[in-house]
Amino acid sequence: MCQPQPPPLPRRVLLVEDSTLFGRLLKGKLEQELGVETVWLKTFGECLERLDSGDTAFDAALLDLTLPDAPHGEIIDLVLSHGIPGIVFTGNVSDAQREAFWTKRIVDYILKQSECGLDLAVRQVKRIIANRDMGCLVVDDSKLYRKSIANLLRAHGYHVLEAASGREALAILQAQRDIKLVLVDYAMPEMDGVELTREIRRISRIDEQAVIGLSNSDDKSTPIRFLKNGANDYIKKPFEVEEFYCRVSLNIDMLSQFATIKELAYTDPLSGTANRRALFAAGQAALAQARQSHVPLTVAMIDIDRFKHVNDTFGHEAGDDVIRHLGACLRAHFPQDEHHIGRIGGEEFCVASPGRTVAQLLPAYEAFRRHVEDAVVATRGRCVGYTVSVGVSDAAEASFEDLLKEADTRLYRAKTAGRNRVIATPAP
Ligand code: GH3
Ligand code: MG
Ligand code: MG
Repeated sequence: MCQPQPPPLPRRVLLVEDSTLFGRLLKGKLEQELGVETVWLKTFGECLERLDSGDTAFDAALLDLTLPDAPHGEIIDLVLSHGIPGIVFTGNVSDAQREAFWTKRIVDYILKQSECGLDLAVRQVKRIIANRDMGCLVVDDSKLYRKSIANLLRAHGYHVLEAASGREALAILQAQRDIKLVLVDYAMPEMDGVELTREIRRISRIDEQAVIGLSNSDDKSTPIRFLKNGANDYIKKPFEVEEFYCRVSLNIDMLSQFATIKELAYTDPLSGTANRRALFAAGQAALAQARQSHVPLTVAMIDIDRFKHVNDTFGHEAGDDVIRHLGACLRAHFPQDEHHIGRIGGEEFCVASPGRTVAQLLPAYEAFRRHVEDAVVATRGRCVGYTVSVGVSDAAEASFEDLLKEADTRLYRAKTAGRNRVIATPAP
């Protein structure tokens, strides 16, 4: 039933550093802390040969500014020309050098003598790797500006898409649901940036997709109009590159912090499924959607048999392991892209399945029940077996609460009929 997922791409980092001590320290830290394969080369020549041979699939590069065969930072241009985001290691930097770095579109420069230099480097690599999965959309009718902003984002490893108009942007956002950040220029024909922001807010929330407005307008009301219409931030053009990156990072960090909080608030930590609140919200939304599309919604209540006995015999912690095991079994049998699974309380779970009738799901519930019956949970040196009873219902016209109630009535009948069974029919 599970949709096959493509295997994750390998994470690889290029390290060009002639100092054996520094190189060894960095390679060790990157491999241990981030688990990334680190290819360590010591000279410009070796690096040139490697990249020319076509081996260019690196997520990020850490580059020593002064190499024996390239003492003037030539390594930066070489690596960046292959589209690899680069972080530079250097001794002292003059203002002129710093300016030159930014012009080259490096991600960051790190001072070699700094105490926390190694940690900073690892943190930057981690961020670049995370950026690869971060979709950004740049919307600007001016090709020149659009490309320049897109290139700034690509230099930091973001996955960047471009749109030349509000309409094109909306089409891309509808088709690609994983875009996290939208950079919107103000002055565009047909639909301006503020109107586009308002349209974006019809389809995504401010804490799920960040919008940053951009404009060279001196009108003080422009940033206010962006923000009042749902933008998360505003950048006045022309901007300092460092400011641009800071604002982009702040907005991305805000989104990921919010996602973490939401995950904590909606997940049951023991079973790893949704908690009661999240399940009810998802179930009610799924039912509304199902009714609108004239498809069924099936709800199942699942309860561990004689669980009190498991706790009394093996201890409460073993009981917890059994609940964890059941959560994992449910997730394996009812993939989360097709079913909503939640722990309603204690040892009771619920699964809501849009688009399927009871008759269609009955074989899956039977297979799941048998799987649990045959499984053994290894817990604290002991082996525990358990069974579940299941009640399933798909009554049309019912509210989500009514569906739950009917599934619960069938579950109760499964219990009184002897447990370890699935009941999916109304009371005779
Ligand atoms: P039945 O077959 O009728 O469902 O019997 P049962 O013993 O499973 O049902 P009952 O409702 O009598 O007992 C449920 C037990 O589940 C009581 C409670 O202590 C235990 N329980 C509830 N939540 C947890 C939990 O998070 N961890 C553990 N270990 N036990 C829990
Ligand atoms: Mg029980
Ligand atoms: Mg119970």
